[in-house]
Amino acid sequence: MEQLLTLIRDVPNFPKPGIVFKDITPLLADPPGLALAVELMANPFRGRKVDVVIGAESRGFIFGIAVAQALSAGFVPVRKPGKLPRPTHAFEYALEYGTDRLEIHQDAVRPGQRVLIVDDLIATGGTLGACLGMVRRLGGELVGVSVLIELTALNGRAALPDPGLLHAALRL
Ligand code: AMP
Repeated sequence: MEQLLTLIRDVPNFPKPGIVFKDITPLLADPPGLALAVELMANPFRGRKVDVVIGAESRGFIFGIAVAQALSAGFVPVRKPGKLPRPTHAFEYALEYGTDRLEIHQDAVRPGQRVLIVDDLIATGGTLGACLGMVRRLGGELVGVSVLIELTALNGRAALPDPGLLHAALRL
């Protein structure tokens, strides 16, 4: 864990005054650090028959793909508006720094498929809440939510319908 913590840099006042941004790019660039992060995020879900991992643009793509491969699962991208070419469902959500909207292809998850949601970080829980709404809407069966970092002071876990579904490799 110490090894991972040294690879995550605090950047004060980015992208807005008052936000301490957790920069994970040093971790991504470090082979053992990246491997450990993905292992810690995937391990609790091994043997849980995950069919697809859902990850939101853009850091959810990075860890989502890696965790999907570790679990021999597929990957479904959740994207910013206007990026997906076929019919989508859209969800509005609140960010730690602003509001936004995310979209998913209407046929991205088949009813009954077992879904794991992955992101780099949970702050207020808005992004993951939108992804949970998508899983529900598409009829997927939620296995859990895996993040690298939970910012515990913001209590985003409490914003999830079942806080016990969240696995965080690092609670900061
Ligand atoms: P939230 O929806 O508030 O839980 O915010 C989570 C999303 O915003 C994640 O996809 C993060 O990548 C990004 N994010 C929010 N706050 C931070 C932060 N302090 N440092 C880095 N990324 C953040």
